[in-house]
Amino acid sequence: MTEDSRWLGDWLRAEGPFLFAAGDITGIKHDFCMARFHDLAGLDYAVVLAYPLVREVLEEIEDQPTLLYKHLYRQVNNLLDRTALKLALALEGRGSRAIPVPASQLLDWKELLAHLSHRQVAVHLKLGWFGRNNLLVTRRHGAQVRLVTVLTDLPVAGSSAGLEEVTGCGECRACVAVCPVNAIHEGPQDFGRPACFEKVKQFERIQGIGQRICGICIRACPGQGGFGRQV
Ligand code: SF4
Ligand code: SF4
Repeated sequence: MTEDSRWLGDWLRAEGPFLFAAGDITGIKHDFCMARFHDLAGLDYAVVLAYPLVREVLEEIEDQPTLLYKHLYRQVNNLLDRTALKLALALEGRGSRAIPVPASQLLDWKELLAHLSHRQVAVHLKLGWFGRNNLLVTRRHGAQVRLVTVLTDLPVAGSSAGLEEVTGCGECRACVAVCPVNAIHEGPQDFGRPACFEKVKQFERIQGIGQRICGICIRACPGQGGFGRQV
């Protein structure tokens, strides 16, 4: 492990219970929507962070998002954005370039694309896998995480301990049965994105929610030992 990678691991562990992975993203950065507007030349590495959601709040979700879940969703996004900003400034302080990519912000409203797909970066760097629910699934927390990415030119590599083992959904189908619009099938390749999108737009209109969130299939996917659990 290089001195830079060791520094990164120590920095992130001091920040809180993040899962993280860092490494080369030259093979995927041409997919990033932000590459249309921002010259990413030289920014060949990424650090992707995952922060766990609070299970007791998720347990409250039955057939629609709750106000507690909305608050959790927003606060975890804020925490991720703040941490990404601090990391970017720390990288700059070491003489490197860095871009903290927003945790949740659309860039292309027509195509509904963000600056980049944090999930794509996380899967590429082996933080987890694409689940049947089209979300990043981690071994430790299932899909019950939110993500942020920092791009950099510093050649960092590594991940939180024990996360290298990527197993996939296996026989689990816990999220398939709970989706109210039957958007979840065998894998991300046949995920019903339009149906899901229409449903979260409907949830957005619930008084006090005002966000395109759902949480039902996230609740069903708790990670370690929880795969296959009936909900
Ligand atoms: S609930 Fe099971 S099938 Fe669904 S994404 Fe999670 S691990 Fe995969
Ligand atoms: S977010 Fe909600 S609507 Fe979309 S796939 Fe998951 S359970 Fe279905």
